[in-house]
Order: sequence, then structure tokens, then C-alpha cells
Amino acid sequence: MVSFSEENIYDVIIVGGAAAALTAAIYAARRAMKTLVIAKSIGGQATMTDSIENYPGFLRIGGVPLMNKMLKQAMKSGAEVFYEEVNGVEEIQKGNVDKPLFLVKTTAGNKYKSKSVILAYGKTPRTLDVPGEGEFGAKGVSYCATCDMPLYAGKNVAVVGGGNSALEAAEYGSKICKKVYLVHRRDQFRGFESLVEEVKKRKNIEILYNSAVKEIKGDGTVHSVVIQDVVTNKTREIPVNGVFVEIGSVTKTEFVKNLVKLDQLGQIIVTNNGNAYYPGRDDIRPGVFAAGDLTQTPFKQLVVSAGEGCKAALQTYNYLSGQQATFVADWVSKKKKS
Ligand code: NAP
Repeated sequence: MVSFSEENIYDVIIVGGAAAALTAAIYAARRAMKTLVIAKSIGGQATMTDSIENYPGFLRIGGVPLMNKMLKQAMKSGAEVFYEEVNGVEEIQKGNVDKPLFLVKTTAGNKYKSKSVILAYGKTPRTLDVPGEGEFGAKGVSYCATCDMPLYAGKNVAVVGGGNSALEAAEYGSKICKKVYLVHRRDQFRGFESLVEEVKKRKNIEILYNSAVKEIKGDGTVHSVVIQDVVTNKTREIPVNGVFVEIGSVTKTEFVKNLVKLDQLGQIIVTNNGNAYYPGRDDIRPGVFAAGDLTQTPFKQLVVSAGEGCKAALQTYNYLSGQQATFVADWVSKKKKS
């Protein structure tokens, strides 16, 4: 094994703080790579649910405890974790082993050097982009009902969206809030039928179909939301203390579009082992890897993200140590033994 360590230069910087990133960190650190995780926060979309029943090894576990376990394991394995938002990754020069070197920049103005980068920061909640949304972020506007709904016990809230996330948020809110306005831009939901029926049964949920949020108003914290009927164009102001934006998520890859190849949805295209490509080209970009929900992989599942994080870390190790990936199919091994 070659030694990668050089002062102030990481072997791998992993961008992200959820299943793919933390699994990559566990594997990278356990391979004695000098590993830095840079994450805005820990847990990603998994923290938006308190009941995960399909992650192997746990009959049922909350997203927050599961992600905290992964974080603890990554740090115990030797990974450093910095809480910052990455807003730039660029190749700066060849490293000491004739490999590229990367500069990872953060919104805090910090810059970190690394011999390789694993992009694994998942998806980001979609925003409404209406007046007041930014101003009242964390002061009444939330993108995580599981995390924040209890703060509005006994109060009125609006949940925006028409998918399973919005339906679940409304159903959850109806158990603890005084009243929930479910604001959907169309006249049909796109969630599970059983969930739609459950929501329709709740007496303290008022469904506002064909309705769009035009503005979120407040005075320090949110006190109302302006809704427009998209059929009649009539607007009305509804008094609420919380607005839960549950309208899906987006892949924020704008800042890496000059670094890696993206598909039409803005997802990073990777090989089966997590190698990214040069933008607009069909050749692999040395030293750049990606894993999890921000890649083109169709199954956006926690266990898939973890598996992809593992593959990307092992592929990074192979890249830095000059080893080839070994592919040994189980059935070949068994055949040889017999
Ligand atoms: P989603 O299924 O993409 O639904 C997003 C909803 O938000 C849609 O109803 C959409 O309206 C609406 N929307 C999008 N942009 C909007 C905007 N700018 N303004 C107003 N409304 C907007 O997203 P999701 O509900 O977060 O679910 C994501 C995935 O996770 C889905 O596959 C879902 O089934 C899954 N999920 C599963 C569970 C579960 O299994 N228990 C729970 C939650 C989520 P339109 O309908 O008009 O497009």
C-alpha cells in the first residue's frame, strides 16, 4: 500500500453527510486514506422520517438515529468531519504521483486540497421561490415535517404539495396541530390512494385544491400565507404559524457542471463503480467519483446509497494505490472449488 499522506492534502474529500457519503467515509478511512467529510448537515433525506423499516439489520429505526450511527462509525474509523457547504470543486494541478489535485471550496471561504473527491451530497428540498420563503426560513418555513411539526402543536399550519411527502406531513400534522391546510396546485394528488383517503377523512385537514402559495407573511415569524386559486385567480390570506414545503427535491449540481458529466435531470453520470466522467465526454475523469441519490442510479434507496458510497470509496482506493478493481463472481469461485 502506498502512503498518500502529505501535510494539508487529503487523500479523499467526501462531499455530503448522509448514507452514501458516510459509508464512503467509513470505507475510505478504514483503508487508511486521509479522509475529510464536508457536509452542510448530517443525515439528508433519511432524517425526514422517523420510521425506516427497510434498512437491513434494523426491523425499524428512525432516520436520525440511523444517520447518527453512521456518523459515529465514520469518525471512529478515522474520518474528519467539517460542517460547511461546498460551492466549488476544481482541478488545480498534477499531484506528486502524476495524478490531479483538487481544490474544494466552501461558502465559508475555506479551501481544502485533495487527491480525489467523492461527490455524495444527495438531493436538496425543492423551494417554492415566493416572497417570504427565504426570509422566514427556520422562522416558520420548514422542509421537514418529521423534524419540525412538533414545534407547531396546537397551532395552524399549511402543508404545500400533492405527493406522498405532503400527504404524510398533513396526516402527521393533523395529530398534533389545531388545523392543517393542505395546499395543492392541482385537483388530484399523486400519492398513495390509501394515504389520500386517510387525509380526506381527517376533520382538521382542509384541502385547498388548485391553489398556489403566492407569499408567506410574518413579523419575525410566520403569521399567514397568501393563497391564489389558480382557476379563478382569487387570492386569500390564511392565518398560519408554520408552512411546510413538501414539493419534492432537486439535484443541485450546477456548481460541478464543469467538473463532471451530467444527465438531462442534472444527475451525475457514473460508472458501475462510481467513476465520474469529464463534462460532455465519454472518458472517465481521474480522481472524481460520485455516489448516491445525485447520480443517475434509478433506485433512490438508503441501502443503495450506502452500497454506492462503499463502491466509490473502494474505487478511490484502487485509483490512489494504482490497483485495478478485482471482479470475482461468486459462481466462478464456487465452480473452481468443486
Ligand atoms: P413528489 O412525488 O415529486 O411530489 C411533489 C409534489 O409537489 C407534487 O404533487 C407536485 O405537484 C408538487 N410540486 C412540485 N413543485 C411544486 C411547486 N413549485 N409548487 C407547488 N407544488 C409543487 O415528491 P415527494 O412527495 O417528496 O415524494 C418523493 C418520492 O418519495 C416519491 O416517489 C414518493 O412516492 C416517495 N415518498 C414515499 C413515501 C412512503 O413510501 N411512505 C413517503 C414520502 C415520499 P404536481 O402533482 O402538480 O406535479
